Amino acid sequence: MNLDPATMSLMVSVASMLHSTILIFFFLLANQYRGIGIYAAGTIFSSLGFLCFLLRSLQPEFLFLRFVGNLFTVFARIFYAVAIGKFVGKKPPYFFWIFAGTVFAISQVYLVYINSNYFWRNCSICFSVAIAYCVAIYNLIKGQTAGFSTSAYFTAIALGGESAILMFRIVAMIFFPVNALFESNVINTATLGSTFAFDYLRNAGFMMMIGQRLYQDLNNLANNDFLTNTLNRRAMQKYLKQEVSKCSRHHREFSLILLDIDRFKLINDTYGHEGGDLVLKHISDLIADNLRSYDFLSRWGGEEFLILLPETSLNEAVDVAERLRIAVENQPAANGSIPYTISLGVGTWERKNKSIEELIIAVDEALYQAKKQGRNRVVALNETSSSADELPF
Ligand code: GH3
Ligand code: MG
Ligand code: MG
Repeated sequence: MNLDPATMSLMVSVASMLHSTILIFFFLLANQYRGIGIYAAGTIFSSLGFLCFLLRSLQPEFLFLRFVGNLFTVFARIFYAVAIGKFVGKKPPYFFWIFAGTVFAISQVYLVYINSNYFWRNCSICFSVAIAYCVAIYNLIKGQTAGFSTSAYFTAIALGGESAILMFRIVAMIFFPVNALFESNVINTATLGSTFAFDYLRNAGFMMMIGQRLYQDLNNLANNDFLTNTLNRRAMQKYLKQEVSKCSRHHREFSLILLDIDRFKLINDTYGHEGGDLVLKHISDLIADNLRSYDFLSRWGGEEFLILLPETSLNEAVDVAERLRIAVENQPAANGSIPYTISLGVGTWERKNKSIEELIIAVDEALYQAKKQGRNRVVALNETSSSADELPF
């Protein structure tokens, strides 16, 4: 079944223009991300390119339409590659693209006006698009796509699929010569049909990348403390609840460490609020470096941090706490210029009927005891006693 290429070109052009409206919306909505505006411009260029193909079928003697249509089509794909690169945090090689774009434009002057050759014109377009897409695929694989890698891979597959179809077109044209895009034959039907489908998949993939990234960023904002990038209290409460239900079901234990920076007010008074903030960031990094990947660290209050250690006994948690205390003591913040210490309270969840709130109150009491006993120390909650007792180290 061979479809009418003019109608198919119109469909590709209209679809691209419709996609551009959503992309312009995303450009305005999510202008904190780079590259969306360039991608939107690419969809408009692509739409104009196919519009030129359509008009050319009505006015075949207008060589200018052929020339401009080819430029729009290839430049649109270069815009996609640049946009995707920027979106995933890569600096686009502008010099390379300007050079490649210029070479393509010159080749089209020759192949349209001087030595009109349909096959080589097609080769130049298909290879240029494939090069642009290969760069985009490379960026999608190597760029910063944390949090939206599913949609990034989806987009990469769509780009790969479209490149494969274009290569297939070139090979097919060697065996079954085609003289114009507006011949109604199986090669043109397949090329235009798959262009329609892959345009949709690629644009949808890019929009999914924006959506997934927005979701990821909002999720981070909702669950993380903006200064230290540790979990916030709300997120930690969720993990505590999960851990309690897991441990109650499987009769396992977990431990909590509540730590507080000693005389933090004095740090703020001595080094200013910025100095205090530096200490907060310093201690968050230091703790994170000393924990296992499946431990949870949260900023529980101003200069107070709560650590959840799954599958950890009281003795093991005390060891961790002591290690943290020594690490802080030995590594002052701000490149060694702000020394400070911390006090830590440690407790373990084991009795099923004890609520998490009770455990936190008890660990807070242990921390209070550490402060009372002179600060810069670890106090563990004695399993049998309701008050906190210092463990002998
Ligand atoms: P202690 O050894 O008993 O814990 O004394 P402290 O001075 O650390 O305790 P206190 O609770 O009296 O003071 C905590 C200070 O932490 C007061 C508050 O201004 C400061 N603070 C809370 N949040 C922030 C923050 O985000 N940045 C900075 N720089 N300071 C903060
Ligand atoms: Mg304090
Ligand atoms: Mg405090």
